[in-house]
Amino acid sequence: MARIFNFSAGPAAIPEPVLKQAQAELLDFNGTGMSVMEMSHRGKVFMAVAEEVERDFRTLLGIPAGYKVLFLQGGGKGEFSFIPLNLLRGKTCADYVNTGHWSAGAIKEAGKYCQVHIAASSESQKFTRVPPQAEWRLSPDAAYVHTCTNETIHGVEYFWTPNTGDVPLVADMSSHILSRPIDVNRYGCIYGGAQKNIGPSGLTFVIVREDLLGGAHPLTPSVFDFTQQAANDSMLNTPPTFAIYLAGLTFKWLQAQGGLAGIELANIRKAALLYRCIDESGGFYTNPVARADRSRMNVPFVLNDDALNSAFLAGAEEAGLAGLKGHKAVGGMRASIYNAMPLAGVEALVDYMKDFAARNG
Ligand code: PMP
Repeated sequence: MARIFNFSAGPAAIPEPVLKQAQAELLDFNGTGMSVMEMSHRGKVFMAVAEEVERDFRTLLGIPAGYKVLFLQGGGKGEFSFIPLNLLRGKTCADYVNTGHWSAGAIKEAGKYCQVHIAASSESQKFTRVPPQAEWRLSPDAAYVHTCTNETIHGVEYFWTPNTGDVPLVADMSSHILSRPIDVNRYGCIYGGAQKNIGPSGLTFVIVREDLLGGAHPLTPSVFDFTQQAANDSMLNTPPTFAIYLAGLTFKWLQAQGGLAGIELANIRKAALLYRCIDESGGFYTNPVARADRSRMNVPFVLNDDALNSAFLAGAEEAGLAGLKGHKAVGGMRASIYNAMPLAGVEALVDYMKDFAARNG
């Protein structure tokens, strides 16, 4: 089969060496004669896998002592509820910054549990920027401040860390976790779904400062209670074992890429190449996001003539470039260029875009 470059927003491309290793080990994991999917999560073999996965995640991100790491289920959307359920800690109000579709989703869910105060919003600018901190109006009685640090649909990313004083900063990092180093110490809680930079869907992660534990709402389901899951190494119930194993293979792959510093350089290079192609297309392609806030992971762009969209997508598919259709909220195209997308994939996309523009411009 001809090589396919997968630009899907998520579930997204997984590094090929990871898939090959999973394939090689599928029927016989570590000489056990069975698949890693088939064994007890409480047995010695899988417990060792789970411990190593957490250790590698901690090392990659430099997660300090004093933070718990949880691997849960329920998707990113489920986490929109688990955050207020766990982090309100008896308070009645939380601050939310609205930078696009996924912030809005978090705001909607949080509204079921507390009074949501919109501390800042870029809605009036059609979510094409991150509101600078000077525009934020934080409430002193907020239990936490919630941000979505990479808006997967609008293609807007924070390249700075907000200062929220003593109020814990919470970030949905679903679509850019592990794409570059971050200072975990600046956050009370970081969470997200796995299906972009970590592995298969069905797995989520939570990194939470220990002093924020212990105050979950009494009606929080036990399996989504961070404190209970932390006390049970995320094994209060049966975890998604295969997804955890695959995440572990991805973490090893990332280490081989030079860790987060190494992958960041690769990501900068890929994003620069694609944005340059858009900006130098003479208006044939446009991306509306403020340059300083343009996501390195999700690059939405529109063609100057919507009537060309289906021809663009059909030609892309033929050239082995898959998953480029944009989200209906913004239209046009979106190229998701997560860690697993090689530079060659972005080069192939840019070549195709230039050629398409030359033929149709
Ligand atoms: N947050 C962000 C930033 C996302 O991109 C997504 C999904 N693309 C979600 C939350 C929701 O995740 P899920 O579909 O796993 O519920």
